[in-house]
Amino acid sequence: MSTLTSPEKEQYWIDVAVELSAQFALTAAEIDRKAELPKDNLRLLFERGLDTAILPEEKGGAGISYATFGRIVFEIARGCSSTACIWLMNTSAAESLITLSNPDTSEFYLQQWKQGKRFANALSEPTSGNLFLTPVQEAKPLGDGDWSLDGAKRFVSGAELADFFLVNASIDGAPAFFGVERDETVEIHEIWDALGMRGTRSQLIGFNQTRLKAANRFGQVVSNRQNLIALGLPWLSLGIAQAAYDALKVQAAGKKLSDGKPLTHVQWIQYETAEAHVKLKAAKLLAQHLLELADAGSEQTIVVSMEAKILANQVAKEVADLGLRVGGGLAFTRSLPFERHLRDAQAGGLMAYSSEMCKLFVGKFELNVRDE
Ligand SMILES: Cc1cc2nc3c(=O)[nH]c(=O)nc-3n(C[C@H](O)[C@H](O)[C@H](O)COP(=O)(O)OP(=O)(O)OC[C@H]3O[C@@H](n4cnc5c(N)ncnc54)[C@H](O)[C@@H]3O)c2cc1C
Repeated sequence: MSTLTSPEKEQYWIDVAVELSAQFALTAAEIDRKAELPKDNLRLLFERGLDTAILPEEKGGAGISYATFGRIVFEIARGCSSTACIWLMNTSAAESLITLSNPDTSEFYLQQWKQGKRFANALSEPTSGNLFLTPVQEAKPLGDGDWSLDGAKRFVSGAELADFFLVNASIDGAPAFFGVERDETVEIHEIWDALGMRGTRSQLIGFNQTRLKAANRFGQVVSNRQNLIALGLPWLSLGIAQAAYDALKVQAAGKKLSDGKPLTHVQWIQYETAEAHVKLKAAKLLAQHLLELADAGSEQTIVVSMEAKILANQVAKEVADLGLRVGGGLAFTRSLPFERHLRDAQAGGLMAYSSEMCKLFVGKFELNVRDE
C-alpha cells in the first residue's frame, strides 16, 4: 500500500468495496427475509480495513477522500443496503467520537475502533428523530460533574452489536453530545419489524439513569467540519437505485415475450429505461459534486447535501418502481429483487433529514426566507 500513488490508493479502497459488495449481494435477500444483522459482512469490512480508512494517516487510517468514502457507501449499498446503512452509521459515530472528544477520550475510542469494537448513533428521540440536533430529553446533573440520562432513542442501526453509542441530550436547554459505553443501564427494546432495511435491526434503546460523563462530552465543533452521514446518505439511496437498475436490465434482456423478442424491444421499457438512466446519472453527478465540495472543505455542503439527498431518495424509489413494472407479476414476489429494492428505497426519504425537511430547507434557501 505505501508505494501506491494517491489516485491508486483511493482506487484500491474502491476495489475492495466492489469485491466485498459482490459477495454481500449473495446474502442480501436472506438477510432481509430473516431481518438478521449482517454480522459477517460487517466483520469483513473491518478485517479489510474499510472501517478506519476515512481516518487520517496519523491516526492509523488511510486518509481517503470524501469522494472515495461516498463511493464505498454506494458500492456496499449496491450489494446489501442494510450492511451499507449500519456501516455508514457506525463509521460516522466512531469518526465523530474520535474527532470531537478530548485527546484522552479520543485516543481511547480510536484504539477501540481499531480493535473492531462497534459504535452506533443513538440520536433519534421518539418525539422527533428529525430534530436530533436539538434533543428535548434533559440530562440531570449528578453533582460530581457528570449527568444522568433517563430516556430513549429510536431506530439505532446495528444497536445489538454496539459497544459504544453517540448520544445526545439537553443540558440546561442546550444540545450536548456524549460517548456512552454500553452497560446495564442501557436496554435494547426490539421494535424493528420494518418494511425495508430489515437487516439494520434499528432498535429502540432505553437509557435508565445512564451516566453521561463530562470527560466523554464533545468539545467545540469546528465550523466547516463535514458530517459523514450527510455525505453518505445520498449514496446509500443511489446504491439501491443502481442495484434495481442493473437488475431491471438483466430482467428485460432475459425475459422473452410470445413473439420471441426480449423485453428490451418493448418501446415503453426503452423510454422509461432512458429516463431512469438519465435521472440516476444526474443524481450521481449531484452527489459527486457534494463530495467534491466536502473534499474542498466548503460550507456549501449543508445545502448541497440536502439537494443531493432529495434527488437520490426520489430516484431510488422511481428506479425500483420501474424494476417492479418490468418484472411484472413475478416482481411482486421474492423471486425477483425489485420488491426488496422498493421497500429499502423508502427508508432514505424517512431518515433524517427527511425529504420533506430537506425540501423545506432548500426551498427557504432558494427563496431567501430566513427563520425569525
Ligand atoms: C433504516 C433506518 C435507519 C436509521 N438509523 C438510525 C441510527 O442509526 N441512529 C439514529 O439516531 N437514528 C436512525 N434512524 C432514524 C432516522 O434518522 C430519523 O430520525 C427517523 O427516521 C425520523 O424520525 P421520526 O420517525 O421521529 O420522524 P419525525 O421527525 O417525527 O417526522 C415525522 C414527519 O414529520 C415531518 N417533520 C418533522 N419535523 C418537521 C418540521 N420541523 N417541519 C416539517 N416537517 C417535519 C417529517 O418530514 C416526517 O414526514 C434510522 C431510520 C431508518 C428508517
